[in-house]
Amino acid sequence: MEKEHIERIEKIERLKRDKNAIILAHNYQRAEVQDIAEFVGDSLELARKAMDTASDVIIFCGVDFMAETAAILNPDKKVVIPDKGAICPMAQQLSAGDLLVAKRAHPDAEVVLYVNTLAECKALADCICTSANAQEIVKAMDASTILFGPDHNLAYYAQKATSKFIIPVPEYGLCPSHHQIVMEDLIKAKEAHPRAKIMVHPECIPEIQDSADYIASTSGMVKIGNEAEAGDEFLIGTEVGLLHRLEKEVPEKKFYPISTTAVCPQMKMHTLAKIETALELEKPEVVIKPEIMDKARRAIEKMLELSK
Ligand code: SF4
Repeated sequence: MEKEHIERIEKIERLKRDKNAIILAHNYQRAEVQDIAEFVGDSLELARKAMDTASDVIIFCGVDFMAETAAILNPDKKVVIPDKGAICPMAQQLSAGDLLVAKRAHPDAEVVLYVNTLAECKALADCICTSANAQEIVKAMDASTILFGPDHNLAYYAQKATSKFIIPVPEYGLCPSHHQIVMEDLIKAKEAHPRAKIMVHPECIPEIQDSADYIASTSGMVKIGNEAEAGDEFLIGTEVGLLHRLEKEVPEKKFYPISTTAVCPQMKMHTLAKIETALELEKPEVVIKPEIMDKARRAIEKMLELSK
């Protein structure tokens, strides 16, 4: 390891101690960012971890909506995102204005929003969900019609668990990184690794979901990998950053990406140098408008309550 790299890691560790700070990292972060984090997980796990921590400062290595969720759940803590440009393109696909129009058109429907949404949209929702609990949350809602956004692929997955009428808002919201995973890649990967089971994220297109042995959130994939027999092989259909965690935590099994181009550039924006600066300056801080904070928190807390 280079001297400069080692010194930077030592400085980050020192700053964390001095400031009583914690680093939370999403499963899609760069390998070196995952390696210096206190906790690595999916959005649901990170939301729970953010609530449990006794640290004063949370350095959040994920995209905007995840850091916002941590800030909403922790009004007394300072949440800092190392690069403010880490903006999820999917979350940008649903505006509060469009959601209000859909709510007016379907006044009896309840609104379930994927955590990948802006805070002002969360404030208009009845409940939030993640890819780990979308089916469970949709089933638990009272209404027979659900407005669900912004990912229409996750809506397709949620629909499989219920006879309720799910209306995607917007009609075709999607994750550009998961849309890189196409059938041609899957066929080639299966030819190269015929024994491998197929494990994909519900942000993948319906054809990929329908071809899979398992559909799971990123942490669900780690769990399935852990529970598999030694020597088992898996084709992984999600952002490639998860491969680092799988290889580190489940070394006795084999994991191959279905598509090596399924990369989320926004997730890769946080670097060790930016984390060091963020810790030093405690900036840029994630600040949520007070009028949005309480309403958004209600919808997130409902999810945490329904998804034990
Ligand atoms: S992987 Fe997709 S949904 Fe996740 S942050 Fe990147 S663009 Fe957004």
